[in-house]
Amino acid sequence: MILSDGEIRRNILRIKDELGGRARLLAATKTVPPEKINFALDCGIKLIGENRTDELLEKYNRIDRARCEIHFIGRLQTNKVKYIADKVSMIHSVDSIKLASEINRRCESIGRVMDILVEINLGNEASKGGISLDETEDFIGSIAVLPAVRVRGLMAVPPKCENKCENAELFKKIWRKYIDISQKKVDNVNIDILSVGMSGDYAEAVKYGSNLVRIGSAIFGKRDYK
Ligand SMILES: *Cc1c(COP(=O)(O)O)cnc(C)c1O
Repeated sequence: MILSDGEIRRNILRIKDELGGRARLLAATKTVPPEKINFALDCGIKLIGENRTDELLEKYNRIDRARCEIHFIGRLQTNKVKYIADKVSMIHSVDSIKLASEINRRCESIGRVMDILVEINLGNEASKGGISLDETEDFIGSIAVLPAVRVRGLMAVPPKCENKCENAELFKKIWRKYIDISQKKVDNVNIDILSVGMSGDYAEAVKYGSNLVRIGSAIFGKRDYK
C-alpha cells in the first residue's frame, strides 16, 4: 500500500535531513503512480529512478518532467534501449559491452551523449545483474571508446541483510574501487558518482562514501509484489 501524502512528505524531509547534503537522493518510483511522483516533487524530490521501460513509457507524459530528472535504474534489455534513449539522463545498470554499444548506437543516432554507471554485482549473486568488481577497469576501458557513452561511476544493489550484515565490507570494497578509477584519467570517463544504498542500508552506504542513494519503500511505503 502506498503511504498517504503526509507520510510521504515526512519521509522525504526526514531522509533529506539524515543525508545532510552528503548524498543526492533519488526516489525509486517503480509501482508509484504519476500523481504520487508529482507530489514527491512538491516535497523537494528532484531526481527519480524507474526500473522498467514499459512502466516508464506509460507514466512518462504524466510525470512533471520540468521539475525532475529521470534515471533508469533497472535491468535493461538491449532491445529496449531505443525506447528510453531520449527520455532519461542516466542509466545506472550497464553491465555488458553489448548493452553499452547499443546505448551508444541509439544515442549517437539522436545526437546525444548518455551518462552511465557500471553496475557491480557486489555480493556475486547469481540472481542479480552486474559485473564483478575485479572486471571494473577492463570493462570501463572497453566502453570508454564509445563516443556517445560517458562513464560517470559505479552502481550496486548489495545483498539483503538477514542476520549478520556483511555489507560494510562490501561498501568499503566498492568505495576503494571507485576511488581507484576516479584517479585514472581516461577520455570519456569522468567518475564522480557512487550509487549504492537503498531503504534498508542508505545510512551505512553514505558512511562508506556513496554519494547517490536510491530510495523507494522508505519514502512511499512497502510495495505489494505480485
Ligand atoms: C526498487 C529499487 C530501489 C529502491 O529499493 P527500496 O528498498 O524500496 O528503497 C533501488 N534500486 C533499484 C535498482 C531498485 O530496483
